[in-house]
Amino acid sequence: MNVVEAEGKALAEIAQVSSLPELEEARLRYLGRNGIVNQFLSEIPELPRQEDRKKAGGFINAVKGNIETALEKKDRELRQKSLKEIDRSSFDVTAPGLAPQTGSVHPLTKFREFVRDTFTKLGFEEVYAPHLEEDEYNFGLLNIPPDHPSRDLWDTLYLEDGRAMRTHTSNMQVREMRKRKPPIRVMTFDRCFRYENVDPHHSHTFTQFEVLYVDKDVSMGQLRFLSDLFLKAVLGEKTRTRFRPKYYPFVEPGVGVDALCPFCEGKGCRICGMEGWFEIAGAGLVHPQVLKNGGIDPKEYSGLAWGFGPDRMLMIKQGIEDIRYFYEGDLRFLKQF
Ligand SMILES: [Zn+2]
Repeated sequence: MNVVEAEGKALAEIAQVSSLPELEEARLRYLGRNGIVNQFLSEIPELPRQEDRKKAGGFINAVKGNIETALEKKDRELRQKSLKEIDRSSFDVTAPGLAPQTGSVHPLTKFREFVRDTFTKLGFEEVYAPHLEEDEYNFGLLNIPPDHPSRDLWDTLYLEDGRAMRTHTSNMQVREMRKRKPPIRVMTFDRCFRYENVDPHHSHTFTQFEVLYVDKDVSMGQLRFLSDLFLKAVLGEKTRTRFRPKYYPFVEPGVGVDALCPFCEGKGCRICGMEGWFEIAGAGLVHPQVLKNGGIDPKEYSGLAWGFGPDRMLMIKQGIEDIRYFYEGDLRFLKQF
């Protein structure tokens, strides 16, 4: 193959190439260090006459230039073609972008905002009471003296100095009564602690929400109204509720508040434990002795207390099966809210 044949072959091959890797192969074959053009150039010194060597050098370099031009031209063609293909096929300008990861409000915090808003509109003021509490505020002043059998209702964590991790938010009741004069409308949404084995429905740490209302002529009718108003706001307008007699030492009478199971509408299902109803809140009229302990005359005033477990309420509302999800900070759970 002489130089002219090699040039013709190179230009024909380059014209046929359909991809950039193939083009690179062709470039190496002809213009690479061991390529055909260099082989011709390496043979020049063997020519005997000076003027032939000069002529051959000029000619081969011209061929080299032609091949380079053809390679460059093909390279541009191929790159433009691949850009057009990307345009048409894989690059969709209307596709949604990749959203950056953002945090979200914890479901319990969100619920707390909702509950707080609802009761603020009804005139209740949010209050706080100590988590680490004197025995008398947690128990004694709420009609639960030491050695009273009803203390067994609460498995309590005690400190060596005799204080307790409060077992309920009701420790705020006597504290607030002593600070204020009726009418008293206060609420609290906060953590409580019990000596419990942890399982899907129990935790050593949980939340309670509680309202206390003390005024003249506070009645069971008002309790019923308040309870239904809130439960309908949370569980839906169609929610049906019922009051059952229930014993709490600091109320008289005491009631357990049940809501009709929204999943089976009373027929009984796995979620409500075949009961058809959920016990969802506890309430009652404040015991006259507790009013007295708070410095309020039970002959002049009466009061109501009403509360529920927000963890449990959310579990029912959202169909969450395990209370531990609220406290373990697992992003797979939290990102769903
Ligand atoms: Zn059910």
